Amino acid sequence: MKFSHPKADIFLPGGAASPEAALATVTHLCVAAHQDDIEIMAHAGIADCLETPGKAFGGVVVTNGAGSSRIGPYANFTDEQMQEVRREEQRRAAVLGCYAIQLQLAHPSADVKQAGHAGVAADLAAIFSACSPETVYLHQPADKHDTHVAVLLRCLEALRALPAERRPRRVLGCEVWRDLDWLVDADKVALDAGRRPELAAELLKVFDSQISGGKRYDLATLGRRSANATFHTSHASDLMTGITWAMDLTPLVADPSLDVAAFTLAHIDRLRADVAARLGRFETR
Ligand SMILES: [Zn+2]
Repeated sequence: MKFSHPKADIFLPGGAASPEAALATVTHLCVAAHQDDIEIMAHAGIADCLETPGKAFGGVVVTNGAGSSRIGPYANFTDEQMQEVRREEQRRAAVLGCYAIQLQLAHPSADVKQAGHAGVAADLAAIFSACSPETVYLHQPADKHDTHVAVLLRCLEALRALPAERRPRRVLGCEVWRDLDWLVDADKVALDAGRRPELAAELLKVFDSQISGGKRYDLATLGRRSANATFHTSHASDLMTGITWAMDLTPLVADPSLDVAAFTLAHIDRLRADVAARLGRFETR
């Protein structure tokens, strides 16, 4: 298996003989923009694979992580050194989480933002064609990070181009930069991210280059999961101790004619209707 960028990194922590062999076993696949996104958005999938025999997790990071901020001990690192550090951090996470495969495609963010970029498209097509995951975790379309949204769109293009019978049965868009607590309850997919709390903390702490200057993504992610679980329902006690919210993107993959923007904005329309209806019920007239 050969990827288009010379710096692409293939890592097989599970000891598979080849990337093809590892991908063939993957049941839960997460394709994310940056190093650390997978561990923020898909902990539920990582835990599912650890707890269920026969399940295997695969992680794909599409960009090279070059544009990240330089803080604390990393303040004087060059772009090149920073990419090296982040690649190594992602590999460590893959070992801790027992991923079957960790791919880092090393594309510059600007390439990913180009619709139809041949190298990005070829890499994603090769990956999606080589596996048949039951669940795919992607970025969510209302995320406010440009690169996250671009990676999502490139993934949807690649998934839609697969023959219908080869497309995954379940595709989820997960919260990172902008949470999904605003979705109406009927639109929410609750991913149980409260399992294996020690591992969850370790998986986030691995990304020292992102955290050490005071941006505590590790604490923020665990806090968000806990807040999501507590504020989910006002009456029931918490069935899950941590929740990552996701939007079900399966319809966009099953029906390539659906417009991504219209599909996303319909979720916002349902929030708007929900707020209006509640106010309408209790306002004095
Ligand atoms: Zn990211």
